[in-house]
Amino acid sequence: MKSDVYFFTARSQSIKGSMSKVKGPLALEKLGIKNMVNKDDKVVIKTHFGALENTRYIRPSFIRFLSDFIKEIGGIPSLAESCGWGLPESISGTHTEYSGRANEKEYLQVALMHGFTQETMGAPIFMLDGPYGIDYNVQPIDGNLLKEVYIAGRLREFDYMVLATHFKGHSGAGFGGALKNLGIGCVAKGQKIRAHLGTVFDYDLSKCTEDCEKCIKVCPTGALSKGVDKILKKNWDKCRYCYMCRSICDKGVIDTGSSTTEDFIHRFVDNAKGVVDYFGKDKIFYINYAIDITWQCDCGSSDVPFIPDIGVLSSHDPVAIDQACIDLAHKSSFNPNSVLSDIKSLNNNGNDWFSYIPRFDPQSGELDFNLDGKILNNWETQLRVAEEIGLGSRDYNLIEVKIEDKK
Ligand code: SF4
Ligand code: SF4
Repeated sequence: MKSDVYFFTARSQSIKGSMSKVKGPLALEKLGIKNMVNKDDKVVIKTHFGALENTRYIRPSFIRFLSDFIKEIGGIPSLAESCGWGLPESISGTHTEYSGRANEKEYLQVALMHGFTQETMGAPIFMLDGPYGIDYNVQPIDGNLLKEVYIAGRLREFDYMVLATHFKGHSGAGFGGALKNLGIGCVAKGQKIRAHLGTVFDYDLSKCTEDCEKCIKVCPTGALSKGVDKILKKNWDKCRYCYMCRSICDKGVIDTGSSTTEDFIHRFVDNAKGVVDYFGKDKIFYINYAIDITWQCDCGSSDVPFIPDIGVLSSHDPVAIDQACIDLAHKSSFNPNSVLSDIKSLNNNGNDWFSYIPRFDPQSGELDFNLDGKILNNWETQLRVAEEIGLGSRDYNLIEVKIEDKK
């Protein structure tokens, strides 16, 4: 069955066509949110605050107007993200393109630098998986590769969720949209690692150094210890799978497996299914901001967008909304001053542009800028797998909402 997707163009001739103040709230209104949210219902807006050097994350004012709209209709808004994987910089002492988001304290500092605070948002702001990424609920699923998902725990506090997503590229997933915001953004720290790497968790104690206690010191739950025999011991009942022990160990003691790009896509789509099953399909409002469409996700740096701004889309179906964004992008020409213009063989006449963006090879650990223009349909795999698992429909009605905004 076709799902409805509402579409508001990014074009605007006056303040009446504002993407932040007018089109964002109206996109939610079209989904019937006014008749669903009752007085004092708690509504969490889940978004991404961007890595420190990223300049193409969702603008704070977009979220502020969503927050104000939720108040207007009687709800109580909150703004949330989830902890990134790896070690907080306060422990590792190093800053990388991806760091600074590994615990709540550090990520909220990045959020502040990017303009997201309780004051600017008019709502509390926090990590859905708690200060260390270890607050989660286990959701059983019948997934392609996973049988359970560690859902970000603080979702339990909310009646509704607005999933406010920056639609853009992704060098592993093909693109980052609503599905990825569900499957990576709404799970606990450990589940992100399970999606990117694997689900094994083996210790090769023959590699463990007798006088080292680094992992014991960083473990937030006290699951690790050494006795008089100086052999590392683990209390599995206490482990909350934050994988900080793995991140700090430089002796290769802890093996969490490896992954292919195909596995990664299957796993985060499994995660997404777990989140929707846990929270409730009818309680999630999807809104995609298809603007600043770079090939990188918001966890990294930012290149020039390779597709011109498209607009704001909304739906109750995460597959349909992402498919609609992809289709609109593929109908567009690409930006002739972007990463795609480096591919000399590419003819700018309408094409599956997401098939040509740079891609990351998990086996070699290398990023391939694809200068010889090879096709890789990870975007299509993501949508196909999501539809097959029952997350939604790739078939949709695109309903363009036109606003008379000429002065
Ligand atoms: S950090 Fe590695 S080497 Fe050190 S105690 Fe832990 S497992 Fe052993
Ligand atoms: S044992 Fe490792 S994965 Fe488990 S809680 Fe401690 S640091 Fe996290």
